[in-house]
Amino acid sequence: MPCIFKFSLFTTTKNDDKGSNFLKSSTTKSKEYAETLLLPKTKFPLRADAVNREHLFRDRCTKDLYAWQLKNNSKPLFILHDGPPYANGNLHIGHVLNKILKDIINRYKILKGHKVAFIPGWDCHGLPIELKALSELKNVDKSFLTPMQIRLTARKCALSTIEIQMSEFKSWAIIGDWDNPYKTLDKEYEVRQLKLFHEMAKKGYIYRQNKPVYWSPSSRTALAEAELEYNNDHKSRSVYVKFPLVKSSLNLPNLNDTDIYIMIWTTTPWTLPANRAVAINSKVEYSIVSPVFDTEFVSCKDYYIVANNMIDALQRIIGSELNIKTTFEGHTLIGTSYEHPVTKAPYKIIDADHVTSDSGTGLVHIAPGHGIEDYETCKKLNISPFCPVDDFGKFTAEVGDPSFEGKDVLNDGTNAIINYLKENMLLVKEHEIVHKYPYDWRTKKPIILRATPQWFINVEAFKQKAFSSLADIKILPDNARNRLEIYTLSRNEWCISRQRSWGVPIPVLYDVETDAPLFTESSMAHIIEIVNRFGSDAWWEIDEKELVAPEYRDNVIIKGIKYRRGMDTMDVWFDSGVSWNIFMSFFELLIRPDSNAVADLYLEGTDQHRGWFTSSLLTSIAVNETAPFSAVITHGFVLDEKGRKMSKSLGNVIDPKTIINGGKNKEKEPAYGVDVLRLWVASSDYTRDVSIGKTVMSQVGENLRKYRNTARFMLGNLTNFDYEQLVTYDDLKSIDKYMLHETYQFGKAVESNYDDFLFNKVVQALNNFTNVSLSAFYFDIVKDRLYADHALSISRRSVQTVLYHILNVYTRSLTPMVPHLAEEIYENYKNIDREQFDSIFKLGWYNMNKNWDNRAIQKEWSILKALRNEVNQLLEVARKDKVIKSSLEANVELYVTSELYELLSNHEPELKLIFITSEVTLTPNVLPPSFLNEPLQAINSIYIRTDNTDDIGYIKDIDNIENVKGTCKIVIRRARMHKCPRCWNYAANEEESLCQRCEEILSTRPIA
Ligand SMILES: [Zn+2]
Repeated sequence: MPCIFKFSLFTTTKNDDKGSNFLKSSTTKSKEYAETLLLPKTKFPLRADAVNREHLFRDRCTKDLYAWQLKNNSKPLFILHDGPPYANGNLHIGHVLNKILKDIINRYKILKGHKVAFIPGWDCHGLPIELKALSELKNVDKSFLTPMQIRLTARKCALSTIEIQMSEFKSWAIIGDWDNPYKTLDKEYEVRQLKLFHEMAKKGYIYRQNKPVYWSPSSRTALAEAELEYNNDHKSRSVYVKFPLVKSSLNLPNLNDTDIYIMIWTTTPWTLPANRAVAINSKVEYSIVSPVFDTEFVSCKDYYIVANNMIDALQRIIGSELNIKTTFEGHTLIGTSYEHPVTKAPYKIIDADHVTSDSGTGLVHIAPGHGIEDYETCKKLNISPFCPVDDFGKFTAEVGDPSFEGKDVLNDGTNAIINYLKENMLLVKEHEIVHKYPYDWRTKKPIILRATPQWFINVEAFKQKAFSSLADIKILPDNARNRLEIYTLSRNEWCISRQRSWGVPIPVLYDVETDAPLFTESSMAHIIEIVNRFGSDAWWEIDEKELVAPEYRDNVIIKGIKYRRGMDTMDVWFDSGVSWNIFMSFFELLIRPDSNAVADLYLEGTDQHRGWFTSSLLTSIAVNETAPFSAVITHGFVLDEKGRKMSKSLGNVIDPKTIINGGKNKEKEPAYGVDVLRLWVASSDYTRDVSIGKTVMSQVGENLRKYRNTARFMLGNLTNFDYEQLVTYDDLKSIDKYMLHETYQFGKAVESNYDDFLFNKVVQALNNFTNVSLSAFYFDIVKDRLYADHALSISRRSVQTVLYHILNVYTRSLTPMVPHLAEEIYENYKNIDREQFDSIFKLGWYNMNKNWDNRAIQKEWSILKALRNEVNQLLEVARKDKVIKSSLEANVELYVTSELYELLSNHEPELKLIFITSEVTLTPNVLPPSFLNEPLQAINSIYIRTDNTDDIGYIKDIDNIENVKGTCKIVIRRARMHKCPRCWNYAANEEESLCQRCEEILSTRPIA
């Protein structure tokens, strides 16, 4: 006896009265006939049991497949270049979004027949790893660690993190070359990077300069713009300060001998010892003013030079009216000397275009060692930068006053300066301001600007080319283009030296005496060769003499020059920014008809516009004169369900492992498995910030369950079906042809959305197809044929043929997103195919027959479906009135005119199947004459007969169905025949006897 399982489709419509309900049937006859029905049978389980079963399908769609597709797929190589995550800390839900989006794209490309190279990478150098490594060294005095001790610990730390992160990435079923990932700490990687640096140096793009850079005292290193974050609520102690003019240096009439001061305003009082000039704008008007009376801050005996525009504001600040003594244009002041506040040495007033008169005093304190604009202004006048501040952000002995030395410029150093100004009667007023200020993005502490000799890339030289190259790049979403353009143009130079040990060394030696760099092609080539042979540790380990290239050894021997190795390493953004380099060995495989880019696609979070996207673009333009990518996609951040960022302090962090394996309490935190996590990614509109939480996951889990059940219904009805039994298109029933048309539309929509990377629209199409086209329409209608028709009948084979085609398209639509489910479905239907594979990916993408796209059928069925809706509404009324329980208890009479009659008469035998009623009669007439003699009651345009006979009926008038001419009256009556105990249609002549169809079918047993 065949095993008939309890079958429940996810939405049990009211018409669904076969299948599971059948077994509950009360009559013994029904039970007897149940086994003659062809109810669905499959080994495909109802429940995914993902945690225990996904691994059964993992290898075939990951590691086995990766090697296979590179060898066997025939379309051009597709490269999605993996932006390297930082080898520090645990993976979070943001990594999930990033890596799974990449994986969906790669899997789609594989299905489309492309070879796909996906080489996962890791960013391994830099301060956070160095600090983490140091924190793990217990009982060691860290101030005495050598660079090599730090490097060894940091390397160990990075490598062990990579192991952990890699196994987690793999657990998300990410396909890629996991045996050969790229790591920025690999010797080969470092050598490529150094060669690239060498290349850029040869082109003249690299230089060293003593100039102010962003300096993090908390990290004790220079930082790039990309490593800053801005605090809008930073508090600074701003000061108004007066500098006395050197006597007689300003030749102005009408003033007595009273002291004249220039007044400046600064938010960084600690930079005053480094003052080298005061700048004015020669086109702005200035005045000499004097207070009307003494205040806490000023004496009425003093004269101050300030910009005219600022007099009103200054009156309020110092608390006294100011009398204007004389007014003149700024150029009068140029060349005038004033006394330095600390050293008392004379410095000059200079002209600078960037000075405005809308804030401060209109006179600007210039410290070229602590400001980029100040530096640029002074450079033109040959004024050197001066920086009496050390790596720790403390004043050095050069500061000019021993009481400042050793003090932290941002704390007690500022305090000492302000006290000094007070004591020396130079302070006019102090007040606190709250403003936007740059912080170190890693340590979250304020940075300073500090002049030190650093290495720079001259971005100015090629940034326009980089900008122009973006015009040919496909960028998603649209608004990302603007951001990328802004960041490409935002810097003129890129400070790439860092004062840390854990990184790739800048391959330059320095003259110990003069500090002059030995920065030549041959010297660098010699050093790179050493790294190539022994690794970058050799830079720190090897005897310095060995690092000197042969042609410079005479300098050492004859001239007695001593060289020392530089202790600077490269910015980690340079490390990762040159990662496109790893694909240079693939060049012979790259066929890029419309682009010279190494990679087809870069895909990262929005924070990489100013990070990895820009650093990659700039380095590639500098060396290859072309962008490294032909398309860029950016995704948003992951927020919780309330739209908040995830943080430990809010307690709203969602661990991907908990979603996959469940939490401690499986009721509250169910184990969803990997496919649900992946479907969440696919369902999200990643072009903006996306949210995750219990509600979202439960909804996504429900969707996946529907896909599973939909596939299960098809699999269950395809038992024992095989390729030989497929019915040709012309022999299909009309509704089956129509369903192929819908499948065609669905398949095309899915394909174009995958092509456009709009995975959430793929999911929408899937949900719609699953719920509307399949569950609520086609499956409902074809159950009668599937379960009750003869196994060998064309009518049943016709449905099976269509189910087989749908299953093929449906499963492959799922494949890039939920590979485990797709593999499991394929495993259960591949026996139908002529050719079978061990993975659905090897099957390739679907190839739909063009004749499925049948517009004529589509038009007919849009009318039939509209009519079906009308009939269903009427059946629903009858059901509510308890006149019928199931739609099969009803007969439908249609009274129709003109064109509509023509159409319906072509489908007459099918109509009862479409409506799922026991009988449909079609009459070419407008009125049902017998009804008109009966009393009628109108409710919402539906007429109900009010007599109490069994012949109760419902009528509805319809004037217009999908713009077809003619009218239609629908009448519903209770079925007059008896219920067939096998198929439940009310089509039997007597109680408990079979209908004609079932009679015929059973007379030709066996049916299966
Ligand atoms: Zn029957």
